[in-house]
Amino acid sequence: MKRILTGIKPTGEIHIGNYFGMIKEVVELQKNYQVFLMIADLHAQTVPYKPQELKFLTYELASSLLALGIDPKKTVLFRQSDIPAHLYLYWILSCLSYFGELQLMHEFKEQAERYKKQGVGVGIFMYPVLQAADVLIYNADLVPVGQDQVQHLELTRELARRFNKRFKKFFKVPEIYIHEETAKIMSLDDPSKKMSKSLPEGCLEIFAPENAIKEKIKKAVTDSGQEIKYDPQKKPGISNLMIIYKYLTNKTLAEIEEEFSGLGYNDFKGKIIEAFFDYFKVARVAKRKIKKEEVEKILRIGAQKANQVAKENLIKILKIVGLK
Ligand code: ADP
Repeated sequence: MKRILTGIKPTGEIHIGNYFGMIKEVVELQKNYQVFLMIADLHAQTVPYKPQELKFLTYELASSLLALGIDPKKTVLFRQSDIPAHLYLYWILSCLSYFGELQLMHEFKEQAERYKKQGVGVGIFMYPVLQAADVLIYNADLVPVGQDQVQHLELTRELARRFNKRFKKFFKVPEIYIHEETAKIMSLDDPSKKMSKSLPEGCLEIFAPENAIKEKIKKAVTDSGQEIKYDPQKKPGISNLMIIYKYLTNKTLAEIEEEFSGLGYNDFKGKIIEAFFDYFKVARVAKRKIKKEEVEKILRIGAQKANQVAKENLIKILKIVGLK
């Protein structure tokens, strides 16, 4: 059975970008692949965070994933920090990485700009290498991600090739799996930025209280004019809302334009609210029923399974690089 590794950071509440970009795909893929789904708590440390919140957000995230259809009988759901082998391989891959190539990473450039005043952490700079280690320690065949992660995954592929050439062929060069080109949902308050947990104002969080969701949608940035028309250049706000509505309803963009021909932005937003609650009704009810002890047990079992595979591979890798 082919193997998948992917992850999500516990830096905030899960939003529809995470869901349509990655989680929905994994829910499908878990039927036919061996999936390792990691809560990337080490990645969460690359930006300022509150220690007392990290644990809470980790459990929150795990229960959200379960409510959205991640099945712990099929998918190994685990916490990154429970698997020390990731860090060991991270060091080995760091020694194969170049300063110049890491400097080119879009996310690094964005975060470097954002934290310019406080100082840019080395963690932000290095995290694509840790991400490569996350994937390669399981020798994954496939990595389902949103569009925003493609550049990092290209680096993972390059590091796998470089390791194989430098030492011995061991790693598979993992495939990047993106369901659709449009798997990039933009922020509701600034459609030039991607929706991200690190910018919560622009996120449509799946499990937020009903009123908060309604408010977010009503306040979402629109464009001048009144037409509901897909034109990402001239109408980035409405085009993003159309993409969201498309995912929620399974309608095509042409059908959406027709549905709202002659109607205004408020009518459209009202329909998005309706579609949102229809789509996530089951998950929102399911989440309330999941208990903390249940999540703890799933993460414990997940860690055991992930550790077994990661350790086995690490022993082989240490021999290859001359450390054992
Ligand atoms: P965030 O930026 O919200 O913190 P993560 O880095 O935890 O997201 O990413 C988790 C997964 O969700 C990744 O596969 C990523 O590609 C996907 N993802 C994140 N934001 C979006 C988005 N706005 N649109 C589509 N996919 C996204």
